[in-house]
Amino acid sequence: MFLRLFKRFFLLLLLVQCSQLYCDSTVVDATIVVVATNVTYQDRIAAFGPRLSDEGLFGYLVLVEDIEPDNKKGCSKLKNSIEVENQIVLVERGQCSFIEKVRNMQASGAIAVVVGDNERNGLITMYATGDTSDVKIPSVFVAQSEYRAIKSTIELSKQVEVQLVKDNLLQWPLLDVIIVVILSPTVMMIFIYVLWRIRQRQRRKQDIAPQQVVGNLATKIFFDSKRQENEPQECAICLEDYVDEDELRILPCKHEFHIVCIDSWLTTRKKFCPICKRDICTPTEETPLLTNNEPTP
Ligand SMILES: [Zn+2]
Ligand SMILES: [Zn+2]
Repeated sequence: MFLRLFKRFFLLLLLVQCSQLYCDSTVVDATIVVVATNVTYQDRIAAFGPRLSDEGLFGYLVLVEDIEPDNKKGCSKLKNSIEVENQIVLVERGQCSFIEKVRNMQASGAIAVVVGDNERNGLITMYATGDTSDVKIPSVFVAQSEYRAIKSTIELSKQVEVQLVKDNLLQWPLLDVIIVVILSPTVMMIFIYVLWRIRQRQRRKQDIAPQQVVGNLATKIFFDSKRQENEPQECAICLEDYVDEDELRILPCKHEFHIVCIDSWLTTRKKFCPICKRDICTPTEETPLLTNNEPTP
């Protein structure tokens, strides 16, 4: 019971850790730096499209809302695309999917897209389904407060040059990744093996008789002259004939064997009589001492 609970807890822990690891390797926080003031805004690079280069990406920020107020969410290609050509465009979240926005802005000539959250104040990773290999420009997501701040900066100074700073995916320590990727399955395998061994041992313990119980069973010395007609003359375990002065163990079922043979059978293999399969640990009226109930002090 305890083992099962522990195993479930461990698996859950492992799952959480794996998903965390998976998230860590896909969620990539980056930064938008306003070149003139060096003010930085946190952003998150989309799961699709190219990564940012080592030098980062420089460009002037253009608010789509300023060019086409009814297309501030970038859900269609800009009619007047000259104004966004070779610029980084800022569009608002909503109405259409992230990938649609990026595709529309790419078609309009933008070199990168910043998607600003209009509702909540947290970073999310922009995902897209299907083939996204046509996306050739990077895109990042900023939370509501950053979106508002960047917008007001643009309103104030019109020409805002920014640098989209390289994401930190490649800075993720390679050694850590290798250690985690190699060690996680190994640790799990070792854990499962240890659990399996413990379980086997427990099962084995239930199957065999305790030494003390076996030692309390009756014994006798064999003499052929005293043997009655219905008594066997050979040990059913080793199939050897009894000879005078052999030490025999008598089980509660009255079956007899060499002490060495039956003791080893009961304590290492099964707690049953090899002939009639009766459990020697089950108390009977004749053998009340075989119970494990020891007097409490
Ligand atoms: Zn024997
Ligand atoms: Zn028996």
